[in-house]
Amino acid sequence: MNSEALPSFAVDLAPPDLTPWRVGNCGVPGFTSFDSDLPGPHVLLLCLIHGNEFAGAVVLDQLLRARFRPLRGRVTFGFANLAAFDLFDPKNPTASRYVELDLNRVWSPSALNSHDRSLELERAREIRPIIESADILLDLHSMLWDSDPLILCGPTPSGLALGAALGTPNLVVADHGHQNGSRLIDHLAFTGQSNGRTAILVEGGPHWAASTVECLRQAVAAALRLTGLAADNDPRLPPAITSVPPRLAQVTKAITATSQEFRFMKPFRGGNIIPYRDTLIARDGKREIRTDYDNCLLVMPNAHPARGHLAVRMAKFQDRK
Ligand SMILES: [Zn+2]
Repeated sequence: MNSEALPSFAVDLAPPDLTPWRVGNCGVPGFTSFDSDLPGPHVLLLCLIHGNEFAGAVVLDQLLRARFRPLRGRVTFGFANLAAFDLFDPKNPTASRYVELDLNRVWSPSALNSHDRSLELERAREIRPIIESADILLDLHSMLWDSDPLILCGPTPSGLALGAALGTPNLVVADHGHQNGSRLIDHLAFTGQSNGRTAILVEGGPHWAASTVECLRQAVAAALRLTGLAADNDPRLPPAITSVPPRLAQVTKAITATSQEFRFMKPFRGGNIIPYRDTLIARDGKREIRTDYDNCLLVMPNAHPARGHLAVRMAKFQDRK
């Protein structure tokens, strides 16, 4: 990211005190697991894959402090990149996304099994056994640029089904990963052949907003109810909201900035729908970026993409079958 071009971002959320959860109880620092000793899925609630996105950590910290225990199956609360989280500085809040390497780009077998060393790769290898034991993984994130909340369900039908069943946030976007490296939801444990394991990523809203905590809390509650780990009326969870049925969209194109002069024609936000095809939405140096179809959904436009970075994804709404 071209940090010199970034505006300042409001930080309206205090980082939670995660001291009680740092040791963990299952052999992996930062991971706390509770087994009901009854049959049921292993649900992994994960936050801090990006160190400065701590809205999800606020939600998990509160559930842990409320002593949530599963009715069936197993639940694990995971704080992924505590080393980056510990570097958070509200005066420079974008700097602590990771220490050495983006922990959400290292989940290919070639990276995990390589001899490369970095703080994040070693952390990925450390938490990998728990990741690979999850039947359902909710990866809690937030966004730098203004956008409606959404679920990224990756490339699999099971991810799409889980995102749709969760129902909150009520926009589910399917895509085929990231060209700069594999995200956690793209890990073969979830995208390989018929293993039944499913991972989705929830983008709850702006990084440091109270509304993002509420959005992620609703998504976590929905997942715990949906999987039967929590009763519908569990007092430690917020009441279910009745929301409109989720819309589903498929990313058709990811636009990477190929120049340092990538400019949107106006300040779009994530969730904007461009009504007509062939609308000019951005210029990338001399290249024109136009929509390919009517009602084109803009997914997480990055107002200041550096060359080689993702600027926006275009997605097409899908009719539910
Ligand atoms: Zn993130």
